[in-house]
Amino acid sequence: MYRVNEAGSTLIESCRKIATNGVASAAANVDAQAQFPESSIRSLADAGLLGLTLPREVGGHEQTPGAFAAIVEELAQSCASTAMIYVMHITATQAIAASSTLGGKNELLAEIAAGRHLTTLAFSERGSRSQFWAPVSRLDEASHGNFVTSAHKSWVTSASHADSYVSSAQKPGAESPLESVIYLVDRKADGVQVEAGFDGLGLRGNDSTPVTLKDVAVPADRLLTELGAGAPMMLEVVLPWFVVGTAAMANGLCRAAVAATSGHLSAGRFEHDASALRDLPNLRARLAQMSVRTEQSRALLAHTAQAMEQPNEMTPLFVLQSRLAAIQAATDVTDLAMKACGGAAFSKHLGIERLFRDARAGWVMAPTADHLQEFIGRALTGLPLF
Ligand SMILES: Cc1cc2nc3c(=O)[nH]c(=O)nc-3n(C[C@H](O)[C@H](O)[C@H](O)COP(=O)(O)OP(=O)(O)OC[C@H]3O[C@@H](n4cnc5c(N)ncnc54)[C@H](O)[C@@H]3O)c2cc1C
Repeated sequence: MYRVNEAGSTLIESCRKIATNGVASAAANVDAQAQFPESSIRSLADAGLLGLTLPREVGGHEQTPGAFAAIVEELAQSCASTAMIYVMHITATQAIAASSTLGGKNELLAEIAAGRHLTTLAFSERGSRSQFWAPVSRLDEASHGNFVTSAHKSWVTSASHADSYVSSAQKPGAESPLESVIYLVDRKADGVQVEAGFDGLGLRGNDSTPVTLKDVAVPADRLLTELGAGAPMMLEVVLPWFVVGTAAMANGLCRAAVAATSGHLSAGRFEHDASALRDLPNLRARLAQMSVRTEQSRALLAHTAQAMEQPNEMTPLFVLQSRLAAIQAATDVTDLAMKACGGAAFSKHLGIERLFRDARAGWVMAPTADHLQEFIGRALTGLPLF
């Protein structure tokens, strides 16, 4: 579905093996215990997949958004928590790679590509909630051109496990929250406090925990952007990669729901009249709808991934549309799967109720479905996004 080169196909195949073996067998426990999928992330690191999109000169695979989408889709069919952790890592990695201000950038990228450094995004704040483009925290000037900051980051995926956070704040003296800056924080830096563990409805292995920064030193060479240039990096680098990753995660959940439903409808029997679940036209109709929504969303994402490789003025619109289509498809398709498979889906043995819960997370992650509709509507009527 997603256009990839030969090296990309090899990586996708190796990810598929990891996903259908170790990742899949750990998934039920990751969900039940809200446990970070350490062994799954280690397998991805050992396979060189943490550096999927990084340049070859730092040891990466220099792969495209299409390869990223295909890999996330593989992971999400087995364990959406693992997929989400991976999406946040690759998205944050792209921000680091795009930086022209970070000191020691190539050494850090080499560590990431070697599978020795996991990173993530820390954008959402208690004060700005889902409106991540408007941080309320601020960098203040300290001595020798360095900075200091305090912040309540409300959700940080991999909070206790990532080695670094790609974080956002207003620049010193900002007159608007859009005058922001992106910077890198080490998880073990003085003043970084990971709060209580994550116990969510879905993506329960994510460790998406609040993190408090208290008087954390931000040396000038840890800035990922110039002061005031945070919003362009958020919109031009972070958003498109986050969209590809989260849309692919939604598509993977849809594919898993279609497969589980089709298997159950084909195998389920009514003994009293020797018929099967698949003999019921209403159940077949639900499955057909599920399949169409899934493939529509995948096709739009494949188109968007290609548009990101050769951008034109429509690319930002396709980016926004593909995330909206995917998160709506995932909530609708997993809901249809619950209805098509009845009590068997409601109980845990088909794994459909986990897909249903995991799919809900995509909807509330920023940009949420509400934000996306608003942004798309504004773009289509010639209004600025903010
Ligand atoms: C599993 C999970 C993992 C996450 N991981 C991360 C992470 O790694 N890093 C990170 O930075 N964040 C992360 N987030 C946070 C996420 O991106 C959102 O910031 C968070 O879910 C917002 O929740 P809230 O209650 O503050 O939403 P609120 O902002 O209170 O939103 C409540 C409702 O209001 C609507 N709404 C808000 N603003 C508008 C508007 N302008 N127009 C119309 N409707 C609006 C929303 O769509 C929503 O329906 C994660 C979230 C989840 C669920």
